[in-house]
Amino acid sequence: MSWSKILGHERQIDSFRDIVARGRLAHAYLFIGPPGVGKRRFACELAKALLCETGTPGDRPLAACDKCDGCKLVDAATHPDLFFAAMPEEKNEFPIEVMRDLCRNFGFKSARGHGKVGIINDADDFNEESANCFLKTLEEPPPGSLLILIGTSLDLQMETIKSRCQIVRFAPLADEHVRTLLQQQDVSDPVMLDRLTRLAAGSPGTALDLADESLWKFRRDMIQMMTQPRFDSVALGKSLVAFVEDAGKESVTQRRRANQTLTLLIASLSDALRLQSGGSARSAEAAEMPLLASLAQRVQPDKILAMLERCLETEWHLGRYVQISLVLEGLADAFVPLLDPKTAVPLRYEGFSV
Ligand SMILES: [Zn+2]
Repeated sequence: MSWSKILGHERQIDSFRDIVARGRLAHAYLFIGPPGVGKRRFACELAKALLCETGTPGDRPLAACDKCDGCKLVDAATHPDLFFAAMPEEKNEFPIEVMRDLCRNFGFKSARGHGKVGIINDADDFNEESANCFLKTLEEPPPGSLLILIGTSLDLQMETIKSRCQIVRFAPLADEHVRTLLQQQDVSDPVMLDRLTRLAAGSPGTALDLADESLWKFRRDMIQMMTQPRFDSVALGKSLVAFVEDAGKESVTQRRRANQTLTLLIASLSDALRLQSGGSARSAEAAEMPLLASLAQRVQPDKILAMLERCLETEWHLGRYVQISLVLEGLADAFVPLLDPKTAVPLRYEGFSV
């Protein structure tokens, strides 16, 4: 049933229903919200409801019938009047060529006569060139057409773009919705389901990316290495590089694995900080607690913060396409002064229990 795949964004569904019922649909919307909360999925459902060929949107509440040819074509991602554009994974800015293609295709007459919809991901990554190329289409789209741009933060949007769009905000989802959506994506192992729900912070899409047991096992190995009496940065660097290269030959695949590994490491370090301040861990489960407690006991909070900073810098370098192995070995080296027991200072926080 239409909209049944959308959880936690009922207010936005009602709002679009109301707008369409009153015939006030704008020609461009900018969806803003954290990654992985379902903005793109929402855009696809909205597109399906608008391109549905059963009756007209004015005759029915904004909902796709899921049976007509229009709905089936949208579900199969082959509808001739539905266009997608996104930044290719190996780029770090939205290429003008992708935007040019979209604008050209969007300029043609609707093939099935029910309007056109364009869904543009990665609006955060427009550069001057791609944004300028898009402006004319954004200002004067063909009649009956709709453009949906998707970004994560209003601050990252260009003024020229955001001033021409209606803004729709999406919030993180409740844990129960995250859990249901993960189950719908075939995450059935209860341990994985629990840990992903905890780590998701309302974003099932982000959590789903971490539904790989080998990532979690490698995280335990990393923490183990960091809590040895003598920290061996060369061994950690080699393990990191080997684990990342094991994901596949393509640099896109390796970069993704490196980012997933960093995400989990950052979650561990944040958990150690929580333990040090008397809070409870969010991403670690019971079996991991002794290791985490050992890290929290051994490394001072200011040094854990410094490790977090190094991890964030590493994420940034990975995004800038510096050689992956160099970046990861550099991270392991940067941990040396932070994990060396000779430089440890007495614990300021005491009394946390495991
Ligand atoms: Zn339909």
